[in-house]
Amino acid sequence: MKNAGEWNVERLLDEIRDEVCATSDYTGRAKLAERVIEAIRQVPRHAFVPEDWQSGAYCNSPLPIGHAQTISQPYVVALMTDLIQPCADDEVLEVGTGSGYQAAVLASLVKQVYSLEIIEALATTARERLQRLGYANVKVQAGNGCFGWPEHAPYDAVLVTAAAPQIPQALIEQLKPGGRLVMPVGDRYSGQELRLLKKDERGRLEQRSVLPVRFVPLIGTAQCSSI
Ligand code: SAM
Repeated sequence: MKNAGEWNVERLLDEIRDEVCATSDYTGRAKLAERVIEAIRQVPRHAFVPEDWQSGAYCNSPLPIGHAQTISQPYVVALMTDLIQPCADDEVLEVGTGSGYQAAVLASLVKQVYSLEIIEALATTARERLQRLGYANVKVQAGNGCFGWPEHAPYDAVLVTAAAPQIPQALIEQLKPGGRLVMPVGDRYSGQELRLLKKDERGRLEQRSVLPVRFVPLIGTAQCSSI
């Protein structure tokens, strides 16, 4: 017999599948990889959602996490995860740790996740939460992700969970040949698109727009160069 939380996850997965199907004309994806679906099933989203919002933990919507920030909509988390085509041996950089939920989903799929969060209090809480939940392959650091995390570069994939008018140059430089980067690009709170950038084996870049989205802004972009 399943408990209520498990039923809620299954309902959430149905909603994600429906939304993936409904947006396939934009995204080019009619379904997500089964291992991405399984990662969403396994990661306990309620453990990343504040006490006051527990009843909505398995709803397909973003929720506040304090500091004027949000935990992203599960459909968007699933789609972004799928777009970077995570492999078991990958090392992935996430910019915008927030609650740590996206990092946990990635950690279930790849070898190592490095995650940067500009708000120190969020970085500390997420680090402790991920440790407590047993995600040993995630390293969280407080800092401006616009500069990437050069010590651990290059990365097989980079996933940015806040929007900027352009993609920071450092993140592209820290991507391996053959690497994938996904990021919301556009103005503050409106007119944004999720963009997928691929670097081929010869270092050539190819980008495409995947979906209209609405993300919180990437802070501190003025100090870094972008393309
Ligand atoms: N991935 C998060 C999760 O699973 O909860 C959701 C991220 S929230 C939509 C965006 C996050 O990006 C916020 O926590 C925000 O503080 C962080 N952020 C904004 N600008 C940043 C920057 N320059 N470097 C690192 N983190 C940044």
